[in-house]
This record gives sequence, C-alpha cells and structure tokens, in this order.
Amino acid sequence: MLGESILYLQKGKEIKMASTILRALTKDGSARIFVINSKDIVNKAQKLHNTLPTATAALGRVLTATSMMGCMLKNKGNSVTVRIKGEGETGSILAVADYFGNVKGYIDNPLADPPRRHDGKLNVGAAVGGGTLSVIKDEGLEHPYIGVVNLVSGEIAEDITAYFSESEQIPTLCALGVLVDKDYSCKAAGGIIVQLLPFADDKVISALENNAKNLVNISNLFDEGKSNEEIAKIALGDIEFDVFDEIDVDYVCDCSYERMGMALLTLKPVELYNILVEDGKIETQCHFCNKKYTYKGEDIERFRKLKEERLKNQPEK
Ligand code: ZN
Repeated sequence: MLGESILYLQKGKEIKMASTILRALTKDGSARIFVINSKDIVNKAQKLHNTLPTATAALGRVLTATSMMGCMLKNKGNSVTVRIKGEGETGSILAVADYFGNVKGYIDNPLADPPRRHDGKLNVGAAVGGGTLSVIKDEGLEHPYIGVVNLVSGEIAEDITAYFSESEQIPTLCALGVLVDKDYSCKAAGGIIVQLLPFADDKVISALENNAKNLVNISNLFDEGKSNEEIAKIALGDIEFDVFDEIDVDYVCDCSYERMGMALLTLKPVELYNILVEDGKIETQCHFCNKKYTYKGEDIERFRKLKEERLKNQPEK
C-alpha cells in the first residue's frame, strides 16, 4: 500500500521501518552529506512495476539518487525530475522527487534483465546502455532548470556524478546500490552523495578520494545493518561532521482525478473526441502508481472550462 510504512514489533517496542535520509555537514563547512536507506522505497517500486532484478536495480538506483536530490531543493512545492534516456534494454527511466525527498518513478521495460557481470553483480550498465541523463528542476520560476549530460557508464552513480560536475560545476561523490533477493524483493538499498562546498579544504578532498573505494559495495553495507550515520563515517573517515537531521522519505504518488483529467487536455481535442465517440469514456492509468481513472465527455468539458478560467485569472506578465 502506498504511503504506509511497515511496523515491526520487537521486544514490546515499536520500531518504525521506513526509508530515511540523513543530512550532515562537515564541521569545517567543506562538504555536505546526504545518506539514504532506500530499501522501503525500492521494494514499493518493485511491487508496483513488477520489475525483474536488473530493472529493479536500475530503477532503484535512480529513485535513490533522485530522493536525495529532492532534499537539495530550495523551497516547498519545488520538484526535481531525473530522466535516464537509455539506449539499452531498460529504455527510459524516470523519477520525480519533492522537497521532502518523497519520490516516485517508472521504467519503460520492467523486464530488462541481461546476464550478470563476471563478478556476479547485476549488469545495470549493459541494461541501460548509452544515452543521456537529464535533470529538470522546477523551482517555481517561469522556466524550469534543465541540465543534460551523456551517460558515462549507465551504472547511474557515475552518471549522477558527471551531471553535478558538468552541469552544476559541483565536485560530487555519489555511490548507489540495490541488492535484490532470490524472491525478487529488495534485500537492501541505499546511497550517499557528498558535495564539496566552495573553498573546500584539500584535506577533506583527499580523504573523500581515499575513502570512496570503501563505498563500492554500498548495498552490502546497508545489508549488514549499518546506519546512515555509520555510512557517512565510512565516507568521511577522520573528518568530523555534524548531523543536521534524519527524515522519513517514501515512495509517494501525488496523482489525482483532477490532475490526470487536466493532463488529458494536452491531447488534441479531435483525439479526445474520437475516443469518446468510440468508447463513450476515456480511461487513463498513472505511470507511477498504476491507479486507473475514467472520464466521460462531460468531465472533459468541465476540465476544459476550469483550464480556461485558470488562464484568465493568471496575472499579466
Ligand atoms: Zn499515481
């Protein structure tokens, strides 16, 4: 079920199991850190989209990174979209996160599952193939910010790093991992993003470069039960940091009858008319949560009037 978090009862104490993001800053202000345990989010995505293991890992990594990027947004109401336009089996992968880090996503081909790599790992790079990564940030301005980079490896973490360095000129360390169980559920998932702030201390930079190798198998670290703070410590080594907060995040779809109805109006009136004449109704399904919506001719007419009114009431620019 969406919006639900799993509750475990342990020794009479209630422990909430949800995905969480930890936000921290090095004491000297050289770098900011985001760490997410995203197992719950990836499990929801796997169930909703019925993904096979490699598709689960690819979509899961994109959801994991996008959720952290949501936490970087400036204001409530902002959103960030990460779109991987893969030329491989997966096709496109899309994730959208809000200011609170809540995220939703989908993958064109949930059945993408090429043979594993020689080291036994899921071959996400081969499944995604070449292509591009775009980041669209809607920060309430007239035009959204759009940054596009070519995929480096299709393994997602390297591609996110390339995006930050090429498009935003921010040196970034990113590690993402999804471990899939034998029953296709997500066994462990999570990620970390460390970003250097202007005038970062060289000592912090070299420590991060040194410690990056310890994060290669980040999904195993989460599987061992390491906390977000412990993962941050692995990345930072001796560099001291302050934890800013740790927030709950989830797989959340914000679709609604009205929003989906308004979206139908982007189709040509003649196309809508033809479907209504043929079927007497228009059925749509949300890509992100599979919820179905049905509209009749009068509903479309109502949304058309509503759209006209909204346009009329918009302040002149
Ligand atoms: Zn939905």
